[in-house]
Amino acid sequence: MAKLIDGKKIAAEVRADIARRGAEFARETGVVPGLAVVIVGENPASQVYVRNKRIACEKAGFYSIVVEMPESSSEEELLGKLEELKNDERIHGILVQLPLPKHINESSVLAAIPPEKDVDAFHVVNTGRIMLGDYSFLPCTPAGVMKALEYENIDVSGKECVVVGRSNIVGKPMAMLLLHANGTVTVCHSRTANLAEVTRRADILVVAIGKADFITGDMVKEGAVVIDVGMNRRDDGKLTGDVDFASVEPKASAITPVPGGVGPMTITTLLENTLTAAKEAVKAKKQ
Ligand code: NDP
Repeated sequence: MAKLIDGKKIAAEVRADIARRGAEFARETGVVPGLAVVIVGENPASQVYVRNKRIACEKAGFYSIVVEMPESSSEEELLGKLEELKNDERIHGILVQLPLPKHINESSVLAAIPPEKDVDAFHVVNTGRIMLGDYSFLPCTPAGVMKALEYENIDVSGKECVVVGRSNIVGKPMAMLLLHANGTVTVCHSRTANLAEVTRRADILVVAIGKADFITGDMVKEGAVVIDVGMNRRDDGKLTGDVDFASVEPKASAITPVPGGVGPMTITTLLENTLTAAKEAVKAKKQ
């Protein structure tokens, strides 16, 4: 039977530590780390994610605001709001919840968040710094996965790591972080030939494709560590991952559940990044 990687439990411990460090920083500097989350429109899933981020921030003792803009907002209006937040000293991190309505250009918006407040680490400057291994912020989901592996004492060095999915948000940065940790990394996508042959090579398999229960037991090596990033809503309303837990769990040595695996770790990185942004803002002011 696989060990369950309990993201909820790990996140609770790490968040308590972040809250402690945040309070210590606030005592020393008089600055409370602050996060602004901007949401445009009324996508129900996005609303849940934003609410969870706000609650996590408040629990950590951080200052938190949510800016809700109507679906009909223009790109200019959104950019104007970002300009305000950029100049707001109480705000150290800015996150624009994706996806944005179709009439708004995502790249222009992400480029308008100053790199030093880009706690999602999606700005090209931060993306480039991650590539070089010289970064302040790590993208939330991949960094959350790395934290969970570290917590479970799963050493990546020298391991065959297979990442399924190559999005800019999850797959690509995930591959980069595994590479920085000295894994031997293969990235798969929708055009990968003989996917099962590749996934069966993995000592550590990370799946982020957005297809419910897609990875089945026959695609996984005996004893593999399986990280399921997927979050898919079934017809009955229940959440499920990209990994078919029932057939994969008996073969894996460790596995993340959905929900309660990678999700809580993602928000944990957001808090860590917000604290880092606040610290760097104070440092920059002193210089
Ligand atoms: P995207 O849709 O941006 O990317 C999906 C990737 O999966 C693409 O690279 C695509 O390949 C690949 N893919 C799709 N179908 C297949 C297939 N049949 N075989 C192999 N590869 C395939 O998704 P995201 O990366 O944004 O998200 C992935 C999943 O992770 C979603 O379920 C999302 O909800 C979840 N998620 C969870 C988070 C969390 O905190 N737990 C955070 C972010 C996302 P190609 O490039 O060739 O099209």
